[in-house]
Amino acid sequence: MSKQDSELMEKIISLCKRRGFIYPSSEIYGGFAAVYDYGPYGVELEKAVKDFWWKRVVQENQNVVGLDAAIFMHPKTWEASGHVSGFADPLMECKSCHVRIRVDHALEEIGIFADEKMDLAEINKLVEENKGKIVCPNCKKIEFTEVKKFNQLVKSNLGNFTEDINENPVYLRGETCQGIYVNYKNVLDSARVRVPFGIAQIGKAFRNEITARQFIFRTREFEQMELQYFVPPNAEMDLYEELRKNRWQYYLDLGLSESKLKWHKHENLVFYAKEAYDIEYEFPFGFKELEGVHARGDYDLTQHGKFSGVDFTYTDQKNDESYIPHVIEASVGVGRTVLAVLTEAYTEEEVNGETRIVMKFTKNMAPVKVAVFPLLKNKPELVEKAKSVFESLKSKYMCEFDDNGNVGKRYRRQDEIGTPYCITVDFDTLEDDAVTVRDRDTMEQVRVKLDELQNWLSEKFSE
Ligand code: ATP
Repeated sequence: MSKQDSELMEKIISLCKRRGFIYPSSEIYGGFAAVYDYGPYGVELEKAVKDFWWKRVVQENQNVVGLDAAIFMHPKTWEASGHVSGFADPLMECKSCHVRIRVDHALEEIGIFADEKMDLAEINKLVEENKGKIVCPNCKKIEFTEVKKFNQLVKSNLGNFTEDINENPVYLRGETCQGIYVNYKNVLDSARVRVPFGIAQIGKAFRNEITARQFIFRTREFEQMELQYFVPPNAEMDLYEELRKNRWQYYLDLGLSESKLKWHKHENLVFYAKEAYDIEYEFPFGFKELEGVHARGDYDLTQHGKFSGVDFTYTDQKNDESYIPHVIEASVGVGRTVLAVLTEAYTEEEVNGETRIVMKFTKNMAPVKVAVFPLLKNKPELVEKAKSVFESLKSKYMCEFDDNGNVGKRYRRQDEIGTPYCITVDFDTLEDDAVTVRDRDTMEQVRVKLDELQNWLSEKFSE
């Protein structure tokens, strides 16, 4: 990461803390690694991200339905899915300071292709060949222990009343899609859907990530938004291409710049996959996976069929054929999307010799849509009028009332949380029933009559 890029990351992290977007977890106890809490503006942003996804993926698609499966699942789920035996990342430890390193990432950083799917012998060979080039990120030494695979599933003692967590462990789910696969039949039998159809879910997932140094990009507790689309085998690749197109357009509509997005094709596919692409976004630390769009064949339902004894054969009466539906999926983290939206929005501008920090969120994403100020705090007639403006808008927009400090300071604060419009009630308002509305991006101010304000805002927010 260049100095400039790491500065940008630091600036985003600092703004998130200072302005109530994102805090380190349990900070009063020194924090808890790779877990974050969302503050007042963070939850609004997170909610906007989830609402946008849900609208595009579920609401606007007749053949996609929603689901909210529990975090805890029968432990056999994770045997069937392959997570118990294979959900493992390569890990080695610095012999000097004992920091743990994710080996495939360390190799990638020095320009050597590697991924978590490689077996231990392959990875150890690459490490040996590049001895001396991998440097401990903490103490800069170059001696490491042998690579081993570390399973990322997080164990819990839910329903286990012995002292031993390893006895019949249950897991916090490592991905949300397993809740979808195990409910496939329930949905098929109870909702009015026929193959091809999709099940969508937003929910928490947990992974024992070895390293987690990139803020909310990689956390141990995170939320996923997943669409699993069940398709006839012979239509899998056509529908996959369609899904890829839709997902690309989705990110443009979300407000991400096309120049900061790219496709990454997986060269090293898992044995069952037909094709796998990731959509990468240019975060301050470079292009990294934002979303996976994968064609998974019949692996998921076949595996659950084998382990549960349930027959997942689908009979397509119209075409007179039977098959196990194949799955194409689009899977993205809420936190990674939030970080992409924050990265895209963060702007510094020179205004009258000073630096203005402004979060240029799209209107959809802005945590607060409108702020209302009385020009002066100590003039009851202004405060009362401003409160009545606030009351008239609050059921339609997430609004904030602010009478702290001077108007300039209030603008700066609203710029930093990305509020598109600030409305000021001043002495003229008492005469002409009009307010000053200031645009976040252009900083232009216009007078709008109070009885036209609702329409004026509606038009602006639908642009
Ligand atoms: P990576 O290679 O970055 O670890 P992955 O390929 O393991 O990601 P998937 O299992 O395909 O990720 O999960 C789908 C999506 O879930 C990812 O594209 C990402 O947006 C999100 N995601 C996965 N792991 C994490 C994590 N630890 N923290 C935040 N988001 C995550």
